[in-house]
Amino acid sequence: MGQDRLDFETRAVHAGVPGDPVDYRPTTPAIHPATTFTGETVQDTHAALDARSSGFVYSRNANPTVRALETAVADLEGAAEGVAFSSGMAAFHASVLAATADGEPTVLAARDLYGSSRGLLTGLLRSLGLSTHLVDATDPGAVDRAFRETGASLICFEPISNPLLRVAPVQRLVEISHSHGARALVDNTFATPYLLRPLALGADLVTHSATKYLGGHGDVIAGVVICDEELAVKVREIRTTTGAVLGPFEAWLVLRGIRTLPLRMRKHCENAFALARWMAEQTAVRHVHYPTLEGRETGQFRDGLGGGMVAVETNLNRAQVEEFLNRLQVAVPATSLGDVETLVLYPPLASHRSLTEEERLDAGIGEGLIRISVGLEAIEDLFSDFAGAFGSVYTPSASR
Ligand code: PLP
Repeated sequence: MGQDRLDFETRAVHAGVPGDPVDYRPTTPAIHPATTFTGETVQDTHAALDARSSGFVYSRNANPTVRALETAVADLEGAAEGVAFSSGMAAFHASVLAATADGEPTVLAARDLYGSSRGLLTGLLRSLGLSTHLVDATDPGAVDRAFRETGASLICFEPISNPLLRVAPVQRLVEISHSHGARALVDNTFATPYLLRPLALGADLVTHSATKYLGGHGDVIAGVVICDEELAVKVREIRTTTGAVLGPFEAWLVLRGIRTLPLRMRKHCENAFALARWMAEQTAVRHVHYPTLEGRETGQFRDGLGGGMVAVETNLNRAQVEEFLNRLQVAVPATSLGDVETLVLYPPLASHRSLTEEERLDAGIGEGLIRISVGLEAIEDLFSDFAGAFGSVYTPSASR
């Protein structure tokens, strides 16, 4: 019906909605805020409700901007499918549910898995009947034994652990899991697909907190699961049912971040390696954790790079660490990681504050440990900043 024959109220409601395919090709992805979509025919609309459909009908099922992000991350990880979530935790949660839905409800988890992921497995999901056994993911022999003893159907681990940056041998762990008929879920948040593509090494599912390096600018909370088509159907059904969907604007922010991921990752790695070497020479520092420091070769990351995170065991006591953090002028004392600016975290009072002292020490987290997400600043400014902060709280004679 011609617009001029419709009433003002009706025209106001329908104004500006594109009816026909547009004839321009933008160079950036579009943001589609629509919650609902209609098809050419009502049959198309109904068919799009199927979890296997590539159509759109309701944004809790699928949304074009979110789909663009899923396609981008799947492409970078070398996977068939991606499913985006409202956070990294929601992505991890759905992955565990999908991966254990048809198997033994027993999971192996790396002892130093990200705290909330570990908490989900050993707390909430345990109370719902899932049993989780913690293993040292850097020790393939221990993982093999744990599979034999527990009959677990899934292992969850990170290639670079948090906060001690221990490296797990991804391919070996995947082979062991498969030899026991189990699946391997790799949280690739720290490495990103730029450094490592776990699916190419046989992993069954990869999860990301896209809040970190994929987004990269500290302005969005998001998560993504990457896997084959069959698992993706389950993951998608879980998302549609539980409703942990990513908004289109948030998907767009991650998409924008991804466009500079390789450049940022390379610089994060260069800065982190330089800072790790610099830290090793400071009198206030007794040990530096960095995957490729002192010729340590992990062999599994692109071009021998070691990631953007550094952890240092300092000679500072708790009060000195807090003062040190207050003195920083460039680096920011804050949680999270993977942002353009350098972020410094004190695990005993932040990520691991819920542990008893005994548990914390057992996890290898001493009182003087500081975790640094190294940003993209000029490295000399970071050296000066850390030197100034160390100098104001520590002299060797004042050590504990
Ligand atoms: N996985 C890792 C390795 C993380 O560091 C985090 C958050 O810090 C998460 C998962 C959870 O991600 P989000 O905060 O986006 O839920």
